[in-house]
Amino acid sequence: MFYLLKRNIQMKILLNNNDLNEALNNVSKLGFVPTMGSLHEGHISLIKKAKKECKKTIVSIFVNPTQFNNKNDYKKYPRNYKNDLLILKKLKVNFVFFPKKDDVYYYKRKFPIKINPNDQVLCAKFRKGHFEGVLDVMDRLTNLIKPSKIFMGKKDYQQLLLVKNFIEKKYKTKVIGCKTIRDKNKLALSSRNYLLNAKDLIIAGKIAKKIFVLKKSIKDKKNINKFLLKEKNKLQKTFNIDVQYLELRDKKKLLISKKISKSKIFISYYLNGVRLIDNF
Ligand code: AMP
Repeated sequence: MFYLLKRNIQMKILLNNNDLNEALNNVSKLGFVPTMGSLHEGHISLIKKAKKECKKTIVSIFVNPTQFNNKNDYKKYPRNYKNDLLILKKLKVNFVFFPKKDDVYYYKRKFPIKINPNDQVLCAKFRKGHFEGVLDVMDRLTNLIKPSKIFMGKKDYQQLLLVKNFIEKKYKTKVIGCKTIRDKNKLALSSRNYLLNAKDLIIAGKIAKKIFVLKKSIKDKKNINKFLLKEKNKLQKTFNIDVQYLELRDKKKLLISKKISKSKIFISYYLNGVRLIDNF
């Protein structure tokens, strides 16, 4: 009896599409958390939310090659599979999907995924082909897993909007945006933080704090975009970083905004060769 109980609560590791189809046969109200692994408290918060809102939870770990516009970035991306599995087991996740590239990309698309020209802003502008790869993998994973809900972080806000728009149009699945988890220095948790040394982590925390302060002061500025351009230059000099964008955009359509209400500040920068993004 005890053995059976123990077996019932055991996490199932699904290594290919056959395993997946077998395990998910008859599973309803499934919550899905897609990840690229190197799990941290940000991922954990999504998983906890999925567990609360759904009957069963599946987490995928797949470093998706098609969303990397730079081969070296793909190679360098941190991978900590053993530790990931320990974390997921502790959380009592029902299923972990660990597909190979051929499981996900088992068919060729008739028409390539295209991002609307109006959406070619922020990361879409600076990482050509990135979101096409994200939508491609999310389409394929959703089709394979058929979840009721997908849980994604607001940390990657532009990704969340694009995926929500794409998936909810095509499937019955709902995409749920979840709040950004930060460390004690206000730095948004990210798998890419594993690529930073202790000194850089402190700098990244200082940059996050600075933008929180900046956001408070923005209300009084006459020309917000001019102000942000100045602040961008200051950030580059003070912290020796290469800022790709520092922009105020509205939360719904990501259009450049002139007022702080219903808007967010978006930043992307390179710190010692590591590209970080955040929004406030
Ligand atoms: P990744 O493994 O980086 O592809 O991220 C998988 C999911 O975790 C995405 O939906 C991210 O937005 C989300 N995520 C990453 N970092 C955080 C964070 N600090 N807080 C909340 N969600 C996050």
